Amino acid sequence: MQISLQDPLFQASIPVLNKIESHGYEAYFVGGAIRDVLLEKTIGDIDIATSAFPQEIQTIFPKHFDVGIEHGTIVVLYQGNSYEITTFRTESTYSDYRRPDHVEFVRNLKLDTLRRDFTINAMAVDAKGELYDFHGGYQDLEDKLLRAVGLPLERFQEDALRIMRGIRFASQLGFQLEEQTFEAMSQLASNFSKISIERIRIELEKMMAGSYLSQTIPFFKNAKLEKSFPQANQFDYVQGLSYLSHQTRGHQGLSPLITWSLLLKGMEINDEKTQRRLMKQWTLSNRLMDQVVAFLKLNHEIIQQTLTIETIYDYDQVVIDHMYNYLEITNQMATKNEMEELINNLPIRKRQELAVNGKQIMQVLKMEKGGPVIGQLLDQIEAKVIRKELVNQTDAIINWLKNNKNS
Ligand code: ATP
Ligand code: MG
Repeated sequence: MQISLQDPLFQASIPVLNKIESHGYEAYFVGGAIRDVLLEKTIGDIDIATSAFPQEIQTIFPKHFDVGIEHGTIVVLYQGNSYEITTFRTESTYSDYRRPDHVEFVRNLKLDTLRRDFTINAMAVDAKGELYDFHGGYQDLEDKLLRAVGLPLERFQEDALRIMRGIRFASQLGFQLEEQTFEAMSQLASNFSKISIERIRIELEKMMAGSYLSQTIPFFKNAKLEKSFPQANQFDYVQGLSYLSHQTRGHQGLSPLITWSLLLKGMEINDEKTQRRLMKQWTLSNRLMDQVVAFLKLNHEIIQQTLTIETIYDYDQVVIDHMYNYLEITNQMATKNEMEELINNLPIRKRQELAVNGKQIMQVLKMEKGGPVIGQLLDQIEAKVIRKELVNQTDAIINWLKNNKNS
């Protein structure tokens, strides 16, 4: 069967495949890009697999980086672009449930596909567009089925992350999990405890942002996938995910800021300390944690109708923008407009926009040394400017300072 390789990402990579082939080796596009092109979705990145061993690739492409050579991956620079090329390999005995004890390079494409997770991810296409599908991946795409390559129990036993990948593909693609694949996922869900939390988080975030989250939650719930998640005995992940999906119904590409915020809200984790503790366990960045906490606080103020020009001033613009996005998604346009009005009415957006700075205040007050009083005065000036009790002009502020000198 012929596949169209019209996509510019494929077009740009065909010369790389041709070059490898001209040296007598095989080379294919593999993995997610094939799945996505068959689904007529935009393809993310291109993975190239080859029968050439890493040293042979290094010889063919003198400009290269050995990023993961022990796993057979070389990044080569060719005609100004970089490409990731991985030697066909088999993987053997995963004694730790997450990394193969050793990989063995092989010359045969079919052997390489046996190590891949799902049939829809195990197809390959050559430079001419010919499809190689050893595990019925094309049919499974047609049937919207996620099916493990080979024996599901074995495959999830080898690498428990695949369980989480399965559920996130279901959420992204709206596919069902084939029966035995799902059975095996359920049986081995507790093996998550052996996987690094970062890798689970990446899959969880993709799952939460999937368009078909709501239809995926029953699988997640029935397989009890959350049982090894942080604090799962105390807080209800299924309830959190249900809330998230209910709120955002089918919207694509939600940001982690929105998904984490709604997850925590749905899990009824309302105090900041507990929110931070859970997010820390999930290894979120400090920046994202701060933003989620702020988003939830802002959301609370919106619901309580306590948002004012003074309280809104304290929120970072990134948080405000995500709140706009969330309000749009949830059809709360009136609230969004009110918020926009408050923001547009703000005379300044941050302290640096004040028409005076600490140094000027010291000059006006003839102070030799700074001190906490400068900060306090800036606080006062800032509050007055925001409340529009004082115009943000140097003269006006200096006048106010002089008049209040002794008070
Ligand atoms: P995405 O669109 O999210 O990039 P992808 O399928 O391309 O999805 P990658 O993580 O980029 O996912 O992996 C590329 C390919 O490598 C997959 O399509 C699959 O064939 C294989 N693969 C990735 N992770 C695993 C895994 N844990 N176990 C088995 N095969 C895997
Ligand atoms: Mg990919």
